[in-house]
Amino acid sequence: MKKINILFAASECTPFIKTGGLADVAGSLPSYVDTANYEMRVIIPKYSALPKKYVDKMEYMCHFYVPLGWRNQYCGLFKLKIGKVTYYFLDNEYYFKRDQLYGEFDDGERFAFFSKAVCESILYMDFEPDILHCNDWHTALAPVFLREFYRDADKTKNIKTIFTIHNIKFQGMFSSVLLGDMLGLWGTPAAWQLLSDDHTVNYMLGALCYSDRITTVSPGYAEEICSWYYGEGLDFILRKRRDILSGILNGIDTKFYDPAKDKALVCNYDLKSLDKKKENKLALQKETGLKVDESIPMFSLISRLTEQKGLDLVTYILPHICERNMQLVILGVGDAKYEEAFSYYAANHPDKICFLPKFDEPLSHRIYAASDAFLMPSRFEPCGLSQMMSMRYATLPIVRETGGLKDSVIPYNKFTGEGTGFSFANFNAHELLGAVDEALSLWFDDKDAWRHLMENAASADFSWKASAKDYRELYRNLV
Ligand code: ADP
Repeated sequence: MKKINILFAASECTPFIKTGGLADVAGSLPSYVDTANYEMRVIIPKYSALPKKYVDKMEYMCHFYVPLGWRNQYCGLFKLKIGKVTYYFLDNEYYFKRDQLYGEFDDGERFAFFSKAVCESILYMDFEPDILHCNDWHTALAPVFLREFYRDADKTKNIKTIFTIHNIKFQGMFSSVLLGDMLGLWGTPAAWQLLSDDHTVNYMLGALCYSDRITTVSPGYAEEICSWYYGEGLDFILRKRRDILSGILNGIDTKFYDPAKDKALVCNYDLKSLDKKKENKLALQKETGLKVDESIPMFSLISRLTEQKGLDLVTYILPHICERNMQLVILGVGDAKYEEAFSYYAANHPDKICFLPKFDEPLSHRIYAASDAFLMPSRFEPCGLSQMMSMRYATLPIVRETGGLKDSVIPYNKFTGEGTGFSFANFNAHELLGAVDEALSLWFDDKDAWRHLMENAASADFSWKASAKDYRELYRNLV
C-alpha cells in the first residue's frame, strides 16, 4: 500500500498555542492518523507567544521569500518533532510578533501571507505531501494559491487539497482591494469566485471553490450548513459541491480527559467506582461557597460566553432555576451582557448559582467531575467538545439538537431507559427549562435510571480512533 503524506495547516495547535477547539484537533488528530501507511505533519505560524521551552528546541531549516502581490516577504522555516509527529513553524516577526493571535487590523494580510508561505515552504521542506489539509479561513487561501501559482513545480503540482470548516461563522472577509494588491489574483478569472460581492473578498469561499474535498466536524453540521439558516451565506456553494462535502465527528483526548487519572480531581473514579464521583461534588460545593449537600443536584456550564452557545436561553431561565432545588456552576468569560446577568443572579442567589468569570483549565476538569448535569443549549454547534468531556466524566449533558450535539448525545428515552443525556429541539427557553425539569425529576425520582445513564455516558467512545479511521479513508480515496 502506498504511503500517504499529509501536511495539516492550521492557525493554532496544542500544546503550542490554543484559543479554541481547532487547536485540540490539530494537536491530537495527527498522532491518531499516523500509522505505517500515513504520515501527517502539522504547520502553524511561529507566533511570539509560543512557549520558550518549545522554541528553544526548534531546528532552523532554511529561509526563503514569499511573493505576496508586489511584495516579497521573508519567511523562516523551523521544525520540531514531539513524539512521532513533526511540526513546522513559519517565521515572520512582522506578521506574528503580536500580542494576540487574531483580531489585528491586518489579519487579512497576515493570513494571506501564512497561506502563501505554506505553499512556498513545501518547495523547501524535507517532506513531500500528497495532500494539503487546510482548516478554517486562516488557511483557506492555500488551495487557491496552490492551484494558481504552484501548479508547474514538480513538488506541488500533484498535491490534492482538503478544506475543513470548523466554524462557518468566521469566513475571513476583507476589502476586495486585497485581491490584486495582496493576493496577486486580479488577472485570474477563476479567482474572481473569491469575491462574495463587488466590495468583499471571502477567503473561505475561495477554499470552498478550489479544494478537492470539503469536510466539517460533524455529519449533522455538514447537513445544516447546506441550508440558508446555518450556511451564513455560503450554503449556495456547499449545495453545489455537496458531492465532495462530508462531516467527520471530532474526538477528544481521552488520556487527558480521564476521570480515573486526572490529577486535577479531588477524587479519581471510573465506571466501576462511580460512587466516588460525589466526593468531587462535595469538594466543589465547599470551594465555591455553595451549600455542601450531596442530595442537591449540581448543574454546570463551561463555555465561551457568546451568543452561539445559547446563553440567551440560560439567562432567560435563571429565575426559574433559582426556584428549584438545584445548584448551577458557570465557568466562562466573554460577552459583557452574559457576564453581567450571571454575576447578578450569583450575587442575589449565592446558595443556588455560582459564577466563575475566568479561563481555568484544571477548574474546568473539577467542574466536569463534580456536576450531575451539564448545560449546552447552543444556537449552532459545529461539533462541540464540552458535551463529550462531560459524558467522559459521567455528567449528563442537556443539549439542543443541533450539529455535533445531536450527533454525540443520545437523548433519554423513558420507555427504554436508554440514552446518554437530555435534549430539546427548538431554540426556545421553555424547551430548555423542560429538559432541565426532565433531568431533575429523573435525578430525584429514579436513581437507578440516572445511574444507568451515567454508565452509558461514561462508556461512550469519544476517542479519536473512529474519526481518525474516517480521515484515513478520506485521504486514501483522494490520492
Ligand atoms: P468552542 O471550541 O466553540 O469554544 P468546544 O465545546 O468545542 O467549544 O470546546 C470548548 C473547550 O474550551 C472545552 O475544552 C472547554 O472545557 C474549554 N473551556 C471553555 N471555557 C472555558 C473556561 N472558562 N475555562 C476552562 N476551559 C474552558
